[in-house]
Amino acid sequence: MARIAFIGLGNMGSGMAANLAKCGHDVHAFDVSEEALAKAEQSGCLRAESAEHAVSEAEAIITMLPAGKHVSEVYRNSVFGKAPTTAILIDCSTIDVGTAREIAAEAQAQNYPMVDAPVSGGIAAADAGTLTFMVGGVEEAFKRAELLLEIMGKAVIHAGGTGAGQAAKICNNMLLGASMVATCETFVLAQKLGLDPQTFFDIASQASGQNWSMTSYCPVPGVGPETPADRDYEGGFAAALMLKDLRLAMEAAESVNGYVPMGSHAEELYARFADRGGAAKDFSAIIKMIDDSWKMPEKGDT
Ligand code: NAD
Repeated sequence: MARIAFIGLGNMGSGMAANLAKCGHDVHAFDVSEEALAKAEQSGCLRAESAEHAVSEAEAIITMLPAGKHVSEVYRNSVFGKAPTTAILIDCSTIDVGTAREIAAEAQAQNYPMVDAPVSGGIAAADAGTLTFMVGGVEEAFKRAELLLEIMGKAVIHAGGTGAGQAAKICNNMLLGASMVATCETFVLAQKLGLDPQTFFDIASQASGQNWSMTSYCPVPGVGPETPADRDYEGGFAAALMLKDLRLAMEAAESVNGYVPMGSHAEELYARFADRGGAAKDFSAIIKMIDDSWKMPEKGDT
């Protein structure tokens, strides 16, 4: 069994670290939040006093942090030069492609093998060990990381070289954001044209409009399989996180002169939705903003 340092035990990291501990690994956990640390201890992890303590004798280091700045800070201040160079470094956070490549280059310069391994799947998948990992890095590093990622996920896919995991993640989520908006406006229009939503679902899910946002994650309550729409859009994937990923996609597109009109429009719409109080709701709740029969307060209205 391996000695693993796990840094970042929030919504996603807590379940992921618990699954590694359940499998018999020694998981030395660290988070700046006392509450997160206490929860990790309860789920079988060992409490580390600091990130440096967690990584000092680690064979593998896994990070699950909010954004690029946290990832740079943790690797530069607490991992490089503090962890043995035999340790495999695995960053599972969703961050910008540029920072992922920069940190991996710094790791390589100091002889650490590193992969970026962002995930698809939310908190329930993290808890259940059914995440999908998209991994960027050289083959040898991928093979080492795969052994641990398999414990936390149902699929581990090698996307390509350094940064390719992050690139795959944001491209996938840009498609998801744009397709969700398209699905929402389509259902609103269908209803205005007098179609019954369930009947339209039955038709479109067997016709060329079929897509995941509709058939697996329908934004209309009571239509299709059970989704956050059936729970007043609670739980699921927060609109704020969709907005974060769309912003990362726009940043990446700009860096390569990519033309992304649909992604860019989806970003604008999610920004407006978050601004009007939708940030904590599931991202499919954007149908409420699109459906003008459901009036959302304008920013500043009481
Ligand atoms: P979260 O905010 O719940 O957890 C992040 C944790 O990192 C927090 O507990 C925080 O205290 C800790 N942290 C921050 N700075 C730290 C530092 N310097 N040292 C140690 N700990 C530190 O976020 P989350 O929902 O778990 O998401 C984590 C990552 O996974 C994000 O990049 C997010 O975009 C991505 N993601 C989230 C979901 C989801 O549904 N929540 C799905 C897919 C991907």
